[in-house]
Amino acid sequence: MNEIMVLKFGGSSVSDNEKLQLVAKRITKIYDKGKKVVVVLSAQGKTTDRLIKEANELSGNISDRELDALLSCGEQMSTAKLSILLNYLGYPAISLTGWQAGIFTNNNNQNANIIRIDTSRILKELDSGKIVIVTGFQGVDENLDITTLGRGGSDTTAVAIAAALHASNCYIFSDVDGVYTADPKIIKDTKKVSNLSYKEMQELSSEGAKVLHNRCVEIGEKFKIPIITKSTFNEEKGTLISDVIEENTVKSIIKKEVSRVSIIGNGIIRNFDLIKLIIDFIKTSKLELLNFEISDTKISIVFKNVIEDKKIQELHKLIFK
Ligand code: ASP
Ligand code: MG
Repeated sequence: MNEIMVLKFGGSSVSDNEKLQLVAKRITKIYDKGKKVVVVLSAQGKTTDRLIKEANELSGNISDRELDALLSCGEQMSTAKLSILLNYLGYPAISLTGWQAGIFTNNNNQNANIIRIDTSRILKELDSGKIVIVTGFQGVDENLDITTLGRGGSDTTAVAIAAALHASNCYIFSDVDGVYTADPKIIKDTKKVSNLSYKEMQELSSEGAKVLHNRCVEIGEKFKIPIITKSTFNEEKGTLISDVIEENTVKSIIKKEVSRVSIIGNGIIRNFDLIKLIIDFIKTSKLELLNFEISDTKISIVFKNVIEDKKIQELHKLIFK
């Protein structure tokens, strides 16, 4: 059987028709070598941000289900466009949504986990010689309602598909060509890191490196799928994330912006209603915790990410209602 290649392209790699041409060229070069090609795409440019903003303008109380129905549209546009272009260039291609590609998730909208992938449709299309283009970031739950995997989740789609198809690796193309010894946008004289272990990459992602969605690295490790991050726009060697048997070199240094939120008041440690209210708020807002401390006069919460003022506004309203 011909080798299956899984290639994922990020939002900035498909942001307009010109970029789509470059992506198409990369794909057809590999297809012309006789490989079976599965492509996973993100939404174009800032489409997902825009959809979230537009939804928020319509309602302050958006249903999780409808938000995913909306957010999944970005990837449906990019995949259909690429398929249209490849067909125009004379290549057989087909775009598949998460559902059509057999991607089943739990019903945790906006942060759903992939439970299984039924690869039969993808394999059927590959067998008929097609380039298969799958929407990243989405799946369906057991009710066939659309779910999304969390921001940046197309990487996770790609590695999960690579695992399900037993591909020998997964390529992640984007506008950054790999992992550096520090963020090259801020720090001078950084060097590209040629290889990292899954563990090292997970540490970097959870500290805020924007190269890969953290869950895709977990899946890569679990199913032993080497992940190669490369630039869409040049031929330079990227960074390989894989198993490393034995090695000890320093890889990278990273600064993370976190949010520390403190609520102050005497005797707060005994205010169980307030504590419960805060914990429920964190849960329903799907905020990721780094640390939670309570003292006699203060509750301090450290979140993994920077928390928008809007969220603080909501919490303030709950506490001081
Ligand atoms: N389009 C989604 C996002 O912007 C998923 C992705 O790009 O990986 O978060
Ligand atoms: Mg991304």
